[in-house]
Amino acid sequence: MTEQNHPAANGGSNPFFESWTGPFGMPPFERIRPEHFMPAYDRAFAEHAAEIAAIADDPSEPTFANTIEAMELAGRPLDRVASVFHILAGANTNDALQAIERELSPRQARHWNGIVLNEPLFRRIDDLWQRRGTLGLDAEQARVLERYHVWFRRAGAALDATAKKRLAEISERLATLGTAFSQNVLADEQGYTLVLEGEADLAGLPDFVRQAARAAATERGMAGKHVITLGRSSVEPFLQFSARRDLREKIFRAWIARGDNGGKTDNKAIIAEVLGLRAERARLLGYETFAHYRLDDAMAKTPAAARGLLDRVWKPARARALADRDAMQALIQEEGGNFKLAPWDWRYYAEKLRKKSFDVDEAAIKPYFQLHHIIEAAFYTAYKLFGLSFERRTDVAGWHPDVEAWEVRDADGRHRGVFLGDYFARASKRSGAWMTSLRDQEKLKGDIRPLICNVTNFNKGGEGQPTLLSFDDARTLFHEFGHALHGLLSDVKYPFISGTSVLTDWVELPSQLYEHWLERPEILSRFAVHYRTGQAIPDELMKRLLAARTFNQGFATVEYVACALVDLDFHLAPGAEKIDVNAFEEKAMARIGMPDEIVMRHRPTHFAHLFSGGGYASAYYSYMWSEVLDADAFAAFEETGNIFDPATAKALNQNVYSAGGSRDPEDLYKAFRGRLPTPDALLRKRGLADAR
Ligand SMILES: [Zn+2]
Repeated sequence: MTEQNHPAANGGSNPFFESWTGPFGMPPFERIRPEHFMPAYDRAFAEHAAEIAAIADDPSEPTFANTIEAMELAGRPLDRVASVFHILAGANTNDALQAIERELSPRQARHWNGIVLNEPLFRRIDDLWQRRGTLGLDAEQARVLERYHVWFRRAGAALDATAKKRLAEISERLATLGTAFSQNVLADEQGYTLVLEGEADLAGLPDFVRQAARAAATERGMAGKHVITLGRSSVEPFLQFSARRDLREKIFRAWIARGDNGGKTDNKAIIAEVLGLRAERARLLGYETFAHYRLDDAMAKTPAAARGLLDRVWKPARARALADRDAMQALIQEEGGNFKLAPWDWRYYAEKLRKKSFDVDEAAIKPYFQLHHIIEAAFYTAYKLFGLSFERRTDVAGWHPDVEAWEVRDADGRHRGVFLGDYFARASKRSGAWMTSLRDQEKLKGDIRPLICNVTNFNKGGEGQPTLLSFDDARTLFHEFGHALHGLLSDVKYPFISGTSVLTDWVELPSQLYEHWLERPEILSRFAVHYRTGQAIPDELMKRLLAARTFNQGFATVEYVACALVDLDFHLAPGAEKIDVNAFEEKAMARIGMPDEIVMRHRPTHFAHLFSGGGYASAYYSYMWSEVLDADAFAAFEETGNIFDPATAKALNQNVYSAGGSRDPEDLYKAFRGRLPTPDALLRKRGLADAR
């Protein structure tokens, strides 16, 4: 997309002021320019505010229809512009959009404060809530009313004017800080490349790593060279294969220093301020700490419950990691190396150890994992479980030429929604992988079908070559596609509880559960096909691959659980506003006995889950909480002897994928499984059940 050379944009039409008549009502991305956003936001904010004022000041007695449904119907132009802006800011940003984002975040916070802190409006919601038993609401309406009441109460609607004023200031400031945090990380990622010169620098790198490095160089105007970036899918394979210990150390240090380099893009002061403001907000709302506040509205309910699960997993994971470390150290000695294993060595020697123990070689596996075959595998799984079919639509344009679109139909051939995939890494995209939507499913304002997006950062194959994924990449694709199904299969009336609008420690269940199917011979033997020979992955290689599945799980669990524990520590800490971030991290690592050779998966200064927007603040444990559920949920299929068992799939669709937030998650799970899970299946899945 080009943003220049459109001087007529102001004089011409703004696409946000028109109805969108293209296929499926998709936003006309090809016509949307940065200068369209602020006028569209200005108008949308004003319209939404007027709608809300009319609801709040309605002289008639509050009813579910004139209050909750009216709010559900309000603000549609704002949803429209915000969803488009959101996807561009994450997946295809530029200086102009970043400037808008900085201006917008506090304004957006101010706008929503004006709603959740609106006194007459809350009085109406509270009145309905008090009379909820007499209103004749159906189950979904009762749940929506409950969620609105919780939302307003937790935002401070019931507090006095002074407290409200302070809460409003806090959320505006937090919005500004969140944007600055993620822009700083992106700047550090964009500002660094490791340029490899000549064969000596490429030592140990298999073809696919070289190809991706050549493509990254070309994208950065260094055609003919090789470039490693700080994106996970670029740096991790390099660490895994590069025989150049000095270069591994160099890029590893740069990678873990994102946001921690001093100067303009340093995030440490931001973190301290964010933590201080969150703690203050929690106190104003009557909670001991932010963690207590946050978890009060989660399945875990308390920080102690979240920590209890993490502690249970930590010990066996650490023991397993230490045993692996010793085995790698022995390997170094065996090879005549005279050094102590360092963090930048772990992936390299783990790869060697994996080869040695399981005869599985990432470079030999990768040719079997072609991006488009794995996408097909995800579609096929959705067909076998839920009867969905996917048709490629080349007439649907996305926000970048790389975006691909599919129309999704259900078992009866009816239109279900549109799925958009934006798979390739590029400099204008933030790192990581995520699902988002351009429109959510609902049945309130007509039968609205969703537009659901997956964004990932896979390295594009070189010129004329297919894109090859690692097994981890393939798992990420399935994970995000599981989220996408949560959005696509959503079958509720009200937007407020549609799709992934659920509690954070429930939202990872549909995504993590979906990963299980990828790891099954039924899928692999069909879709893991060698890109040159067209041959399916040999049985015996697949067996070795699956046998190696729990390999290095000590490391993976340790680098994750350390993050989740530090997240809780940060949000339980008194006096957080004065925190020395690096010293705090160091102390926290010492306290849990973090092995010297492992670093947190996300160090605080680039821990976007916690500090850019804060969706997972004090909730990073959610992945493990959901994993307790997904391990147990997949066992429900295994127990039938059929991983596509129709009855189980139907119950799963009904109570998980299509249910959104229409019921309490514990009730949903019990309706699916007949009981709540224990962590046993999780420990087995990670191969930690017998480790101590
Ligand atoms: Zn996820």
